[in-house]
Amino acid sequence: MAAPVVVVAETIYGGLTPASLECVEEARDVAESLATAVHVILPGHQTAALADELAAHGADRVTVIEHQALAQFSADGWLAAVAPVLKETRAVFTLAPDSGYGRSWLPRLSARWRIPLASACIRVKVTDEGYPEVFRVSHDGKLHERQIWARGTAVMVMLWPGVRGVGPALPGRPASVTVVEPELDPATFRDRTLRTVPPDPHDVDLTEAERIVSGGLGVGGPEGMALLQQLADELEAALGGTRVVADRGWLAADRFIGTTGKIVAPKLYLALGVSGAGQHVAGITGSETVIAVNTDRTAPLLKLADLGVVGDLHAVVPVLIRKLRTLRQAAQAAPAVRPALLDPVIRTPVAAAAGRPRDASAREALP
Ligand SMILES: Cc1cc2nc3c(=O)[nH]c(=O)nc-3n(C[C@H](O)[C@H](O)[C@H](O)COP(=O)(O)OP(=O)(O)OC[C@H]3O[C@@H](n4cnc5c(N)ncnc54)[C@H](O)[C@@H]3O)c2cc1C
Repeated sequence: MAAPVVVVAETIYGGLTPASLECVEEARDVAESLATAVHVILPGHQTAALADELAAHGADRVTVIEHQALAQFSADGWLAAVAPVLKETRAVFTLAPDSGYGRSWLPRLSARWRIPLASACIRVKVTDEGYPEVFRVSHDGKLHERQIWARGTAVMVMLWPGVRGVGPALPGRPASVTVVEPELDPATFRDRTLRTVPPDPHDVDLTEAERIVSGGLGVGGPEGMALLQQLADELEAALGGTRVVADRGWLAADRFIGTTGKIVAPKLYLALGVSGAGQHVAGITGSETVIAVNTDRTAPLLKLADLGVVGDLHAVVPVLIRKLRTLRQAAQAAPAVRPALLDPVIRTPVAAAAGRPRDASAREALP
């Protein structure tokens, strides 16, 4: 069998990042066209239990690199731990998420081994003639590039999170799992992560937010947006809105949603006083659940929403805030019955919500 397609996977808060699963599934497609296997390398501490999930998304072989010093990310640590394992695989394609971690260590290995590295990739494949080929974006997403190398060239690829999306898992799919325990000396790591701080919903990028409270002209003014901010705080959600609200200065200019703003894919999109114009709706189609509150029962967004409330947001929002505060207090008094709604949102460092590609159209347009 030809050399495997290799993925170097990442974890955060004890789980695999969706971006890693996207890499595994992309590697699966490439491996099938080459009639070879997908080999995933998973550096970390006590991560062996995640091998089943990697297998369910397409891994044939998993090498877990286990060391306490890998519990938190270190570029020096990753290099020391991953390079020897990767070298043995003799991979032609090595895929890793285009994440903060990947950008810290992979370019160094690419330079050291003189292997080409393609960042911001949205697709990886092999041409009909057998040449490694990647499609990548550049110039802030405005330009698509196609890069092809000579047959057999080893290539490192950093896959842009959120473009492919994560497909359904196939539980029970088998993979061979090996655990290696390298000798690492953390004292030699020049960089180390002291702790990982979850992003503050106030300034988390809307494209990465798991919950969004969104205001339209129906909020009536800056006071209305301030009321929505209170609701967002109760839900640990990010605040966004429509372009016209940002144009009027009621919302920061980088926080409006739509074709000319941010394309979002939250689990919950709660829209208040938003009519649902096409330019706005085009930015929220990746949302898992849409709830809309509007006084006008014919508003287009009410037709699209999973749950629509016909009513005045100024009456609805204070009631919601009160209910959420009561729930929170009850949860604090009896932590065992803490409602799931109030659980802290675990966010990945890069947005790639399962099954909801952030910009799948970028891939669909490719040859
Ligand atoms: C080239 C171009 C690009 C654009 N790009 C974008 C974009 O990227 N993003 C974007 O958002 N827009 C964009 N727009 C603007 C877009 O066409 C709409 O004008 C805009 O989305 C409407 O915003 P809105 O829903 O806040 O306001 P409106 O359409 O005025 O809707 C306000 C809604 O609030 C409801 N309402 C009023 N009072 C209350 C109340 N008390 N309680 C509950 N509901 C109430 C009303 O019934 C109404 O449905 C673009 C326009 C153009 C021409």
